[in-house]
Amino acid sequence: MSQTSSSAAPSIVIIGTGFGGLGMAIQLKKAGIESFTLLEKASGVGGTWRDNTYPGAACDVQSHLYSYSFEPKHDWSRKFGPQQEIQGYMESCVEKYGLRPHIHFNREVTEARFDTPENQWIISTADGETLAANVLITATGQLNQPAWPSFKGMESFRGKVFHSARWDHEYDLEGKSVAVIGTGASAIQFVPEIISKVKRLTLFQRSAAWVIPKPDRAFKPWEQWLFQHLPFHDRVYRNLIYWKNESRGLAFTRFNFLLEIFAWLAKREVRKKVRDPLKREKLIPDYQIGCKRILISNDWAPAMDQDHLHIETSAIERVSENGIVTRDGQEHEVDTIIFGTGFRATDFLSPMKIIGRNGQDLNQVWQEGAEAFKGITVSGFPNLFMLYGPNTNLAHNSILFMLESQFRYVLSCVQTLRKQGRGAAMDVLPDRQKTYVGDIQSRLEGTVWDSGCTSWYRNEHGKNTANWPGFTFTYRRSTRHLDPEDYEFFRAKG
Ligand code: NAP
Repeated sequence: MSQTSSSAAPSIVIIGTGFGGLGMAIQLKKAGIESFTLLEKASGVGGTWRDNTYPGAACDVQSHLYSYSFEPKHDWSRKFGPQQEIQGYMESCVEKYGLRPHIHFNREVTEARFDTPENQWIISTADGETLAANVLITATGQLNQPAWPSFKGMESFRGKVFHSARWDHEYDLEGKSVAVIGTGASAIQFVPEIISKVKRLTLFQRSAAWVIPKPDRAFKPWEQWLFQHLPFHDRVYRNLIYWKNESRGLAFTRFNFLLEIFAWLAKREVRKKVRDPLKREKLIPDYQIGCKRILISNDWAPAMDQDHLHIETSAIERVSENGIVTRDGQEHEVDTIIFGTGFRATDFLSPMKIIGRNGQDLNQVWQEGAEAFKGITVSGFPNLFMLYGPNTNLAHNSILFMLESQFRYVLSCVQTLRKQGRGAAMDVLPDRQKTYVGDIQSRLEGTVWDSGCTSWYRNEHGKNTANWPGFTFTYRRSTRHLDPEDYEFFRAKG
């Protein structure tokens, strides 16, 4: 299969239909570019919001900000929208902007290879098809591959096992003895939802989470009416949230002591709501607040207080036929094991194989850890643009703001290639990338993420490949204009 273009715009393939892929497609459409195809491995849009349907799934960033600035939704039901509503919002964007004809569902990309004489990407999918495009935009997110720790004896377990990102809604948890592994952002949302159903819940906690109260509530009809009828009010509200969140950026990157107020709030929550002093002790983390993502919930502490919830802090040794055996030799018999163990975030584009100029494999290039110029382009991989790439994740504000900065930058690149005519390619200069990445890594030194805990922000070499070490407006400024001097431009031969 080969893609044709009716205009002089380059042919474009976007991988993924989460917030990144859909938003990019909308911006291309707005710029009058129709020569794009979205490849989606699943049968529906939504990315992480399609996959994570576990009970209680909701955003921990306020919905007015966790939505496109160019597509406000005035009737959010709550300050922090639930998963289904976010999914509905994304589907409504697909319909409104006529994206559906551009999307090829059930097309999982396995490989993309840059074909040098033609200056195009040859993209292979799991169903054996190939597709050619001048520009490849990846929008696969950082949280799309569930992490399944490999415990000894896992295959011998006779009960039910599933991951929070692949929740089995057919399976009834009523009256079951359940093991939950993990205490991250997902577990703190689903444990309170299932605790009243299960007979007993054993929470396998490797590290405690810093959990602060969630300032959430339903919007009143009159508030929604105001957002709808006074769009200015909606925008002011969004901006207020933005600046409130943004002001926390400094606490993560420079003035870590400011985070102590959150630590105090988290400890107060545990002391107020958990009766058992032993549980309280286990629930207070022993690492600096902010090192891992700070979580927000009003029902985590009350769930922990339940008598039929047991917090197990002895490490998991192996899985047996009947349950989980911990290092202290105890066997915890359970009917079900739920993995709340997160995602292989630092793997980035893997397991896709991306082969650039001169046959370089991106996974090899990134052996020590992923890196990219502005988190978007990688030297040796021309016309490849990443959304939510290395070092563009945030701990303090909405990722949608970062994505919108990237849409603008990538669109400038596409427009530049368009001006240069068919077969044009651009490759970021290695020294520009090196300087940029060096600067990011030195700015990450001394941040709270560097304070000694393990988290998905850092890879096995201890390199923080996830986070952006500054304000989001600084990132926006740095991506506002494409500087052609940062790139080598070349044309297809023949
Ligand atoms: P996570 O934050 O990576 O948490 C994984 C949990 O599993 C951690 O508690 C970890 O322990 C534990 N774990 C991993 N491997 C283990 C092992 N071998 N043995 C025992 N415990 C193990 O994953 P997540 O909760 O799915 O969240 C991931 C990210 O998704 C979040 O940081 C957030 O960005 C996003 N998310 C967002 C929302 C939202 O509301 N917007 C909701 C859910 C998720 P350690 O801490 O000791 O490593």
